[in-house]
Amino acid sequence: MKKRFVLNFALDAADEPITYVLIKEYDLKLNILKAAISPEKGGELLVELDGDDKNLSEGLDYLRGRGVGVDAVDKKMLFRREECIHCGACVATCFAGALTIGAPDWELKFDAEKCVACEMCLKSCPLKLFDLRFG
Ligand code: SF4
Ligand code: SF4
Repeated sequence: MKKRFVLNFALDAADEPITYVLIKEYDLKLNILKAAISPEKGGELLVELDGDDKNLSEGLDYLRGRGVGVDAVDKKMLFRREECIHCGACVATCFAGALTIGAPDWELKFDAEKCVACEMCLKSCPLKLFDLRFG
């Protein structure tokens, strides 16, 4: 089973070899899709984990036991593209890199594959063009 998660951990836990442990001890394939470190919040990783159900469940328990926040990405963000005025306000809030804007056309691009449904764009769009769906 392949699933995506956002992992949040304190800065003092950033030195721990959690990715190594997930691979070696829980036989999980791990793909880091995005990484960010903030002096205030610590580290945030968007990862894709692939393995059998038991190993995945135990690997996630291991992370939680180490104080790592684990949020499954199982929500879907919808976007009303035709109404967008390409102001860019949402781009800076999109940690996952799902929203981008730039040359040559300076039109907003939304990559649903990268979206982790963190809801930050819901608050930042002045026209309220984002809509969250579950399942
Ligand atoms: S919910 Fe919005 S801000 Fe969060 S990852 Fe998706 S597009 Fe980016
Ligand atoms: S904040 Fe809203 S209007 Fe502005 S670029 Fe993003 S989606 Fe478009």
